[in-house]
Formats: sequence, structure tokens, C-alpha cells
Amino acid sequence: MLWHPCTQMKDHERTIPLVPIARAGGPWLYDYEGRRYFDAISSWWVNLFGHAHPAVNARVAAQLETLPHVLLAGVGHAPAIELAERLLARAGPDYARCFYADDGSTGIEVALKMAFHVHRNRGATDRVRFAALRGAYHGETLGALGVGDVELYRGVYAPLLLEPVLLDPPTGEESTEGADLGVRVAQRLEEARAVFARSGKELAALIVEPLVQCAGGMRMYPPSFLDGLAALCREYGVLLIADECAVGMGRTGPFFAHRHSSARPDIIVLSKGLTGGYLPLAAILMTEAVYETFYDDDPWARAFLHSHSYTGNPLACAAALATLELMDDPHLEAHKGRLEQVMDEAAAALRQHPHVAHVRRTGLIFAANLVCKKRTAQPYPAEERRGLRVFRYGLAHEAWLRPLGNVVYVIPPYVTREEELRNLMAVLGEGIDVATRD
Ligand SMILES: *Cc1c(COP(=O)(O)O)cnc(C)c1O
Repeated sequence: MLWHPCTQMKDHERTIPLVPIARAGGPWLYDYEGRRYFDAISSWWVNLFGHAHPAVNARVAAQLETLPHVLLAGVGHAPAIELAERLLARAGPDYARCFYADDGSTGIEVALKMAFHVHRNRGATDRVRFAALRGAYHGETLGALGVGDVELYRGVYAPLLLEPVLLDPPTGEESTEGADLGVRVAQRLEEARAVFARSGKELAALIVEPLVQCAGGMRMYPPSFLDGLAALCREYGVLLIADECAVGMGRTGPFFAHRHSSARPDIIVLSKGLTGGYLPLAAILMTEAVYETFYDDDPWARAFLHSHSYTGNPLACAAALATLELMDDPHLEAHKGRLEQVMDEAAAALRQHPHVAHVRRTGLIFAANLVCKKRTAQPYPAEERRGLRVFRYGLAHEAWLRPLGNVVYVIPPYVTREEELRNLMAVLGEGIDVATRD
């Protein structure tokens, strides 16, 4: 009956096993046959504190009893207000307001429309384009897809989409390992400067995934590149949008990934882990300077007339509040640090593997590429589906890994224990051995 997302359904008849999940607890998923799988990718990166966490369950259940939903326009309710306050407190005094949307993609739609509208409200009607990074992913709705650059998702719909001005990030995958990072960052920034010199005046905003381009293949670039981009945006009057859907909520270390750098985005979008992996929700935070361009005596002329039926859903906000409380645990940072250590130990071994290149980690995001030629880091032909072999090996060994083509990666829930992660990294290593054997 189901048409699965992001899937060629015929694949499930022959190539990819379907695994119905009956229940989940902590970082473990259990199927109907009683087998268990470690959720190595946090259910598409949304889960932070495990499945069915008692504190989140309790908070959502209590909310269910009092107010499951009400429209947000003209109505305030405690979960939406409290969550806005908490998020703005995390963002700091530069940020004025919190707007809600339903998920990552609709959060990005809000950010794009808002950025364009800011310039319009300031009298600049010619800033009608967006800049984005090559290899970017910002979601699947037409606007979000339009600022993305993953051919697999974009190609078919290209005739319908915005055409972003693309900048190359220094992710290291464009050259072999070892090339000097500082030099590459400087080169990429120089290229970006040339693009801004040409197109800066027509740009409404630059949208970036800070530090890690996740769906585009867990491609990582250093904070200094983001510093440079933020400076260019300031110089050319271009707004900076930080898409923190995947990298926010402490995945890379700090609550917001952009805080590795000195960049202060005009608009920040959070989603995915925001509710701890319970319910869809996005929060869009913006500076006072952005907010005030919409503030006016006239009811329509400058207002941001955007809404979704479920904007600020109380259940989702309650899950987010419980999640933020869990993030306040004073032991969390040290625990994440130990998990990072486990990843680094596994990375050291994987670097020696003859069919692995670009072993990398930012915070608790670990990734590596399967390559047929190590010296040139040449990926395997896509049709060999080497990543799928890793996935199948994982399934047979209690691990739910879901590689992106030739990119294998691990983004575990924060509640993962060191021993569990050590086992998982071992299964990943064995899976890579098996997948690259011939
Ligand atoms: C997942 C993701 C989105 C889209 O979020 P959805 O909730 O899947 O619509 C947008 N941006 C980034 C960086 C993402 O990883």
C-alpha cells in the first residue's frame, strides 16, 4: 500500500529488503520478528535522545491532554511562546523573533521568501536571486529544491526551479587529501568574491549548510570559509541564511553549527532534531533588522503573509521543549566528546583501508567515501551500488546504516553508549571490507 519516500519501488522487489519496524527504544529499532537494529543515522538525522524517551513522551502526553492543536494566527499558547523564548535565548541578543513552519523544507521556503521580502520592504526590488553552495541540499519542495545542487533530486525538476548562483566550497573532495586546507579556502573565497562582484547586486541571500553538506554526501568545509562568506555578504548587502536543519541542535558540537565561525546569519532555520525526532517542526530565527522591515501601520503592505495550517503545533513544540531540556544536561558535552573519540579511533583504522578515502568527522557526524582507486579517490561507478552492500551487511549485523551512494556515514543519537558506538564502527568497517572485496 505504501509508496516509500526517496525510493524506486521496484528496488524493494529484488534489491533492497523492506524492514517493517514494530517499536523502538533508545537508539534501537526492533522489527516484527524480534530482531534489532542500531539506528546509526538517527532516523534521517532527526533523533537526538533515543526513541520513546520517557521525558519527551511525558511532555507530549501532557500536552495531548490539554491542547493538541490550535491555529497560531492571533492565538498564543505556552509551548509556542516558551519554545520561541528558549531558542532566542540560545541564539543570543542579535535575534529578535521566532517564526514556525512544519518541517525543514517549509522552513527553508519561509527563509527564502522572507529574505527576498526584506529587500523589497527596503525598496530594493531587483534582488531576485539566491546564491548557494555547490552540492547543497535544502529540501524537496520546489523553492527549497531550487536552491539545492544535488543532481539526483534536482535534475528532473530543473525546468521548474530557481537557478541559484553557485559557489564552490572547499570540501576537500575536489582534490586529493593532503592539499593545504588554508590555500584551498583562500582560493574558494577568491572565486566567491569574483561571483559576488558579478552578481552580488541581484542577490537577495546566500543560503548555506554550515560546515557539513549532509544530503549532498556529508561534505565538510572549515569554519574559516563561512567567515569569508559572511564578510562577502555584509560587503554586498546580501542576507546570509544558515540552514541548520541537519547540523543544528549540537550535531557538530555547539548548539548552532555556524557558531564554529564568527558568521552571524540574518536568518537561521532549525528543524529535524528540534523535536528530538518526534514530530515535524521548523523554527526560523531572524535578526531585529530583518523583523523590523515587516513592521508597519498598514495591515498588508509590508507584512509577511505566510502560514501553514499546523504552524506552531503545540505537540511538536512540547517535544522540542523537552528536547531542549535534555540538551541542558551538564554531562552531555563530555559524553559527546567521548563518542567523538570513539569515531576518531575508528577513523584512524579506516584511513588505512585500500578502498576508503576522505575519512572525516565534524562533531558527531562521521563519514568516509568508498573508492575504487585510493590514490585519486575515484568513487566506484554508481551502478555497482557498493553503499547498498554496506547497508545489507549492516542489516545482518544489527546496524541500520543507510549510505548515500558511495558515502558511508554515522550520525548516532546522543544517548548512544561508547560500547555501542565502538561495535557500530566495527560493523561499519566489516561492511566496507565485504562491500569492496572484488
Ligand atoms: C533534511 C534537510 C532539509 C529538509 O527538511 P525536511 O524536514 O526533510 O523537509 C533542509 N535542509 C537540510 C540541510 C536538510 O538536511
